[in-house]
Order: sequence, then structure tokens, then C-alpha cells
Amino acid sequence: MKPLPKPVLRDLNEIEGFDESTFIAAHQLPAVTSVRVNPNKNIDLFKGMEQVPWANAGYYLPSRPVFTLDPNFHSGAYYVQEASSMFLERMLAPFVKNKGGLRILDLCAAPGGKSTLIASMLQPDSLLISNEVIRPRATILDENMTRWGQMNTWVTSNDPRDFGRLEGYFDVIVIDAPCSGSGLFRKDEKALTDWTEDNVQLCCDRQRRIIADVWPSLKTDGILVYATCSYSTAENETILDWIADEFSFSPISVDTTDVPEIISVVAPRGGQGYRFLPSRVKGEGFFIAAMRKTELTDNYLHKRFKSGHDKKMADLSGYLLKTGDYLCIKTDKEDYSALHPLHEADWLALQKVVYLRKTGLRLGSPAGKDWVPAHEVALSVDAEGDFPGINVSREQALLFLKREDMGIESIDKGWQIVRHNGLGLGFIKSLGNRYNNYLPKHLRIRMDLDF
Ligand code: SAM
Repeated sequence: MKPLPKPVLRDLNEIEGFDESTFIAAHQLPAVTSVRVNPNKNIDLFKGMEQVPWANAGYYLPSRPVFTLDPNFHSGAYYVQEASSMFLERMLAPFVKNKGGLRILDLCAAPGGKSTLIASMLQPDSLLISNEVIRPRATILDENMTRWGQMNTWVTSNDPRDFGRLEGYFDVIVIDAPCSGSGLFRKDEKALTDWTEDNVQLCCDRQRRIIADVWPSLKTDGILVYATCSYSTAENETILDWIADEFSFSPISVDTTDVPEIISVVAPRGGQGYRFLPSRVKGEGFFIAAMRKTELTDNYLHKRFKSGHDKKMADLSGYLLKTGDYLCIKTDKEDYSALHPLHEADWLALQKVVYLRKTGLRLGSPAGKDWVPAHEVALSVDAEGDFPGINVSREQALLFLKREDMGIESIDKGWQIVRHNGLGLGFIKSLGNRYNNYLPKHLRIRMDLDF
């Protein structure tokens, strides 16, 4: 491995609790592999494995498997997430867990690590907007949120400034900012080879712009979480100082006495942050801070509106879901989606301001008296548990995911969900002695199978 950049080490030497030799030694070790289980699809895959101390459903794996060849990964049973960043759970828990009716924005959300974590903490009537400005990355985010399977997680693809128009709209905003990436030196050799001081400066400018753009959309008393995977104080403590100069907030601290290896830092102007160094914790480099907005902001008011609920389509598609408590709305030319009844006003408000690429749960579209279910229904935690289906082995599941023949002789006619370990992977439509695979082509596994 290339030597660590001198400016990074010089900067970190200013941090209490930093030890240069153990830090350099930690960078000779491989990155840690960790996963977080989906509590709504709870299957015992990692029982007995070491738990991530600061995340309820986080586990360390002894080695890195080929996740693409695990059907449980495709069914959304778990998400592969770097352990340090799971600390977001502890920061948000007091404001999110067991609290209903929240609106949360995850502004820089792809590929979806923080968003799937936030989603797992939500009550059904709370709403998470996961945004990613870069379109191809928004596609990946959409796929990962679809696997996670919740109706109350939507995906947008906008520049942060577009959210500024929703004054006082969000209860919580998470900014996992694009950064110089030094915290990932162990995981990603390119982060090390590409690192420059100039890029740190560029990142700082962008981080300040992003925060200023969305600050108006946070309500008074709302919570802002700011995080990076950078070691640089310029992208962390100095950004907290800049926020203190520009806006009004009170810092938020959390209890870390059970994990004293996490470094608690107070920025010169009072911001409170937490640093994760691979030499001290089992995880990669990470920084996170939370604050409560104390400025007065107008509260976004929903205007009165005419409901877009389509009862006829709800009746046609209703057999797909176990819950009857949803609205059926037209989200595209032919396609309908299911929303929590309390989120219709959000749909109407947001579509005026941002590009909604996934609103609620895609249900599919009518075709005469039949209904063509969207792929997403098969992965939804709201899907009707008794919906006809076949439970398949790992090998058959991988063949299905490769859109190849599963070698099953006869399947009851009609739409069937292909399940592995009881969790849906996608649809087939059976004609009895043969079937059509409805897994979207772009989701097909391209790797060679290992059997
Ligand atoms: N939160 C993600 C997760 O946990 O999986 C990781 C987010 S990554 C650190 C930062 C994200 O910000 C990237 O997906 C990147 O595409 C996005 N980004 C890049 N430039 C941006 C900008 N100007 N405004 C907002 N987001 C940006």
C-alpha cells in the first residue's frame, strides 16, 4: 500500500486520542466486512456472529463472501454496510425510534447504506425521502430501497438546492456528504492514490454549499446530521464551525461510554462530533455530528387538495398486499403505486419541487381484467404473505436471478412469487409446464454461478 499522505497524518496529530504508529499499522490490515440485517425480513443468517457494538442489527463477517451469489442479499434480508457508519443509528434513535409522522431527508443517499438503516427505524406513518443527485447512482439507490421493501421510503434524484423550496418541511435531514474519502483508504486503494489537498478544499466548498442549500427545508427544532468518511478536520470540525457562524443550532451528544474507542470531539465553536479511526474501532474512518436547528423557520403547510386515490385500481390490485390501508395512485402513464394514506399530501407537494423516481410501493399496471404486478411487490414487506409462490433452493434461486431455467417441471398456473428462505426474489408467470421469468433484465446476475 502507498504511504499515507503526510498532510492527513499531520492533521490527525492534532486530535486527542490519535496515535500515528497504530494508525499506520491499522492501514496495513484488510478492511472489515460487516452487514446489517433487515428487521422486517428477519431471518437468522448471522446468529452467533460478532455484533457491531453500536448497531442493533449489525454483524461482522469473518471474511468477505461473494454477495452477488447469495440469494438472501437479493431478497433484501441484509445490507452490506461499513460498520462505523452504522453509528448513525445511535445518533438518530432518540429523535426517530417510536416517533410517528416524521419526514426525513437523506440528501446524499446512494447506494443506500444510511437510508436502509433509517428505514428500519421508521414507524409506518413516517416518510423517508432518499435523494441522490447523480442519476446512475440514483438507479442503484432505487434498487437497494426496493430490496429493503418499505412503502414509506421514496427515492428522488435532485440537486440539494431544489429542496430549499420546501421551507420547514423536514424533521430530520441527513447529509452524508461527498468527501475526499480518506477514511476509506483501506477499503479503496483509489481513494489513496487520488487523494490531494486541493481536492479536500474542493470538497469543503461543496459541503458548505450543500448544507446552505438544504438548511431552509429543516424545521425549527429539526435535527441535522452531518457525516463524512474523511479524516480531514477541514471537512469535519471546520465545517461544524462554519455552520455555527452561518446558522443557529444546539449541538447534540450521545452516550459513548460503552465504546470509549470512539473519539468525541468538540469543535472550536461548540459543535459536537464523533470520530472513528480504524486503529481504535473495528470499522473504517468516519465522522458524524448532529445538531438541533434553533432558528425560526416557517412551517411548510400542506394546501388543500383533491385526492388522487383510484378506488377501482385499488380493488383490482388489492389482492397483492396484506394491508388494506393504503392509497392507490397513478405514478406513471400506466403504472400505479401504493402509498401510506397520510403521505398523499407529501406526494402532491414534492412532485412540484423534485423528481420523484420512486413514490411508495410500485404496484404495476392493469392489463384487461388481469394485473401485471411490478417486480417491487415481490420484495415488499407489505406483500400478501399468502400470495401464491414457490420456495426454491439456493441453486434454483441463483438460476432464477440469472434468468435461466430453474429446472422445475410443473408450477401452478398464474403469477407466482419465487421465494428463497421465505423471502421474495421476483415474479414468474406460470403456464403450467413452463413459465416466464419477470425479473427485470437489468437486475440479472451476470457472474458465472459457482455450482
Ligand atoms: N449515504 C450513502 C450511503 O450510506 O450509502 C453514501 C453517500 S456518499 C458518501 C455521498 C453521495 O453524495 C454520493 O452518492 C454522491 O454521488 C453524492 N453527491 C456528489 N455530489 C453531490 C452534490 N453536489 N450534492 C449532493 N450529493 C452529491
